[in-house]
Amino acid sequence: MKITTEDYIEYLENVSKRINENKDYITKLDATTGDGDHWVNMNMGFGKILDSKDELKNLSIKELLKKIGMIMMSTVGGSSGVLYGGAYINASKKLGDVDFLNEEGILILLEAISEAIMSRGKVEFGNKTMLDSLYPAVETYRQKLNEKVSYKKLLEAVENSSKAGMQETKNMEAIKGRASYRNDKGVGHLDPGAVTMYYQISELVKFLESKI
Ligand code: ADP
Ligand code: MG
Repeated sequence: MKITTEDYIEYLENVSKRINENKDYITKLDATTGDGDHWVNMNMGFGKILDSKDELKNLSIKELLKKIGMIMMSTVGGSSGVLYGGAYINASKKLGDVDFLNEEGILILLEAISEAIMSRGKVEFGNKTMLDSLYPAVETYRQKLNEKVSYKKLLEAVENSSKAGMQETKNMEAIKGRASYRNDKGVGHLDPGAVTMYYQISELVKFLESKI
C-alpha cells in the first residue's frame, strides 16, 4: 500500500465532508457539555486546509503534515486547534522523509498524533476526550499489525475499537476540558471531540480499505 500526499488530501476531503454533514449533531453535543463551538472549530480547520489544496499537493508527506499542523494551530480556536496542531507537527517529525505512507507509516502517524495529544493535553485514555476514540484505535492497529492478520481484518478491528471508545465516553467523567467544570462531569453525554476523532478514524479506515 502506498498513500501519497494526494491520497492524504483526498482523505482529508472525506473527513471535511463527514464533519460538515454532522453540524447540528456535533454543535449540540458541545453545547451540552462545553461551549458549543467544536463543530465550528473543526469545520474551519479542515476547510482552511482544503483551501490550500493546490499548494499542499506539491509537498512531501513530511511537509504536508507539518503544514496541516500549522494551519490547525493558527486558524482553529479552542483546545482542538492546539491539540490537532501539535499532533500533526509531531507526526511530521516522527515520519521524517518518506515518499509515501505504507502500513507501518500509518501506525507511526497514528502513534505520533496520539502521543502528542496525551502530552499536550495531559490526558490519558478514559478522561472523556478526543483521545478516547483514538487511543484504542492505535492500540488495536499496533496489535493486529504484530499479529500479521490481513489488512482488511486489521482495519475492521480498528474501526470497531474506535467506535467503542467513542461510545464509552458517555459513561466517563471528564478530567480535562470544559466538561470537567460541570457538577456531573458530563456523565450521560458523549464527548464531542471523541465523536469528531471517530469520524477521522472511520474515514481513514474506509479510505485505506479502498487502497488495499
Ligand atoms: P474548547 O473546549 O476550547 O471549546 P473545542 O470545543 O474545539 O475546544 O474542543 C472540545 C474537545 O476538545 C473536547 O470535547 C475534548 O474532546 C477535547 N479536549 C478538551 N481538553 C482536552 C485535553 N486537555 N486533552 C485532550 N482533549 C481535550
Ligand atoms: Mg468547545
